[in-house]
Amino acid sequence: MAMNQQGRPTRPNENAATGGYADTISGSRGLDQAEPLIFERGRTDLTGVDFPELKGTKTRLGGLERKSDIGLPGLSEPEAMRHYVRLSRKNYAIDLGIYPLGSCTMKHNPRLNEKMARLPGFGDVHPLQPQSTVQGALELIGELAHWLMTLTNTPCVAMSPKAGAHGELCGMMAIRAALDARGETGRRRVLVPESAHGTNPATAVQCGFHCDEIPANADGRVDMEAFKAKLGPDVAGIMLTNPNTCGLFERDIREIADLIHEAGGYFYCDGANFNAIVGRVRPGDLGIDAMHINLHKTFSTPHGGGGPGSGPTVFSQALAPFAPVPYVVQKGETWHMVEHEAEARADGAEPFGRMVAFHGQMGMFTRALSYMMSHGSDGLRQVAEDSVLNANYVLARLKHVMTPAFEGTCMHEALFDDRFLKDTGVTTLDFAKAMIDEGYHPMTMYFPLVVHGAMLIEPTETESKSGLDRFCDVLEGLAEAAKSGDTARFASAPVHAPVKRLDETRAARNPVLVWQESEDQPQAAE
Ligand SMILES: *Cc1c(COP(=O)(O)O)cnc(C)c1O
Repeated sequence: MAMNQQGRPTRPNENAATGGYADTISGSRGLDQAEPLIFERGRTDLTGVDFPELKGTKTRLGGLERKSDIGLPGLSEPEAMRHYVRLSRKNYAIDLGIYPLGSCTMKHNPRLNEKMARLPGFGDVHPLQPQSTVQGALELIGELAHWLMTLTNTPCVAMSPKAGAHGELCGMMAIRAALDARGETGRRRVLVPESAHGTNPATAVQCGFHCDEIPANADGRVDMEAFKAKLGPDVAGIMLTNPNTCGLFERDIREIADLIHEAGGYFYCDGANFNAIVGRVRPGDLGIDAMHINLHKTFSTPHGGGGPGSGPTVFSQALAPFAPVPYVVQKGETWHMVEHEAEARADGAEPFGRMVAFHGQMGMFTRALSYMMSHGSDGLRQVAEDSVLNANYVLARLKHVMTPAFEGTCMHEALFDDRFLKDTGVTTLDFAKAMIDEGYHPMTMYFPLVVHGAMLIEPTETESKSGLDRFCDVLEGLAEAAKSGDTARFASAPVHAPVKRLDETRAARNPVLVWQESEDQPQAAE
């Protein structure tokens, strides 16, 4: 396999029966252009712009200016433009097709949100502007905070965390601060179900807790007997996702909340799956103490390669005093951002600190509020209902050819295991790669860990029935191909993708993140 100097395969499809890049003189395939790294396309000794030599000006940098070459590739504007557009055409996006990644809520990002986020009063503000000049932006943050508290029935929200995992950190730091304020420094054990997202235990450990795993029962929910047996005076709390990562509602959630509170601990709820219940269930009514909301999942702001995240975290009365600065308050007609801990303390709060330099992701706040207001309360309720309906449609259409991990209906995602692939020689990974050849982004694979060879499909409410039918037809066809012994289709998949199977272990163990100029560049760029 031809490699470029970074060790990446440049001609992955050379041997594929369909013909690969090697078949053409240019390396391109049809109108899918081959594209090397930008450093290989541009030359570091050239520049893309021609500025006249500066004459008669004196530097004011006091001798600190760079003397050596900057070492960036020189490309003209059209060349740079084409480089990135060509790369983008190798990518997959929610604007191209269904993105069935379970636990990620990859829904359509309405264009109205983009229009709102670009209004100059929101898009062009600077975080260091005097507060009197950004009253509208502060009001927007306050309004969004109000609706997040209303939808969750909680009295407080920290708007600044910049992702779900960051929100978890915010919530667990508040729990740690509340325990410390009670003088309970011995409570350091956090109960985490074994189906939890990896960020849950990672966050707990980051905050100085240690994790104790609760097993799942045969239904894919928390095993209540095992949970009760783990309660004790050193328990700081529980981190529970609801609906959980198996796509199932934790039916005993009220009892779990009561028992953890009786034991003196707090209830952190991972709210990443809020899409399944938004407008229908208020987590505050279920007894949670803290929960992050991924605006980029439930409230449709772009994520993954499409934009930054935002993870506002709501708090119960018990944790509200410990919420971080900054936060927005309304004083008469004026909106005010409380930025310093001293000011918050003067208000009677005990913030554990601050999580970000400024106030969070303004663009995401604007998009999320635009989404909420355009849906209204009935529309948001329908979001939850339709997302659950769509997942159950996928489950119902595929359960005769694939094997659902659990009996019964699901919430907003359909979970299959790999029993239907038993003795076919095809693995979950092969199955997912074959989906790429069919033009579909694979579902989440091998997560949650409690299910063997897991395939977690979250269609979201924004897919139409005909779109879901096409998707299910393909999965059905692939399942039948695997069972009928057509393994060649899977072993070499994906044959139609720009890059084939990557050595992911090597990439993780030995990441090459910095481009190094090398002598034999022309050869490497082939
Ligand atoms: C997405 C997700 C997270 C983390 O959210 P990020 O915004 O990606 O940091 C945590 N838990 C679950 C269950 C998730 O699906």
